[in-house]
Amino acid sequence: MSAGIAKIVWCLGCVAWFVIRYPHARRARKTRVVGGARGAREWALLSISLSGLGVLPFVYVASGAPKFAGYEFQPVLGVAGTFVFAAALWLFYRTHHDLGRAWSVTLEIRERHALVTHGVYARVRHPMYSAFFLWAIAQALLLPNLVAGLAGLVGFGVLFAGRVGREEEMMLETFGDEYRAYMARTYRLVPGVY
Ligand code: SAH
Repeated sequence: MSAGIAKIVWCLGCVAWFVIRYPHARRARKTRVVGGARGAREWALLSISLSGLGVLPFVYVASGAPKFAGYEFQPVLGVAGTFVFAAALWLFYRTHHDLGRAWSVTLEIRERHALVTHGVYARVRHPMYSAFFLWAIAQALLLPNLVAGLAGLVGFGVLFAGRVGREEEMMLETFGDEYRAYMARTYRLVPGVY
């Protein structure tokens, strides 16, 4: 694998992610929101994450900037990154499928929102965030640039740290003991670990 192919893999991954997400984003616009913690803080977190997973790597893929942070491409890392990206996309697909109409880009409770505890949600509470972390790891493996490569982990790490506690609070307020019991039998991101 060459550095050029690794960049193409990264671009194809972004396109595939968009295709997976699009029907859900479209449907979400039509499903009424009845509660949640949407606000300036959420939009700031989303922007930081988008910069790290999207804008900075895109600038690098398009222009090679920032040049000072570049290092020699290692084909073995590129191949590993391709597999990790494929795993991330598979998990994305599953989480969107299992969440169905409960899906939101931000913290929201929708009309007739049901707690999802099946499929990939049976063992972890935040499999979509696990998928984003896999994406960020794939980005670091595929793009031989310290800034563009690591920006995803930093950007999504900030979103995760700033959101997960509030999301669980919102779910506890909405679903009470049902969510408490679900928390007691699941992990956040990695089954058996965290
Ligand atoms: N944190 C989850 C979902 C991210 S999408 C994950 O990583 O997979 C964010 C929206 O999903 C939130 O607005 C919340 O309302 C909804 N949500 C999160 N967990 C849910 C669950 N187990 N069942 C139903 N909706 C859920």
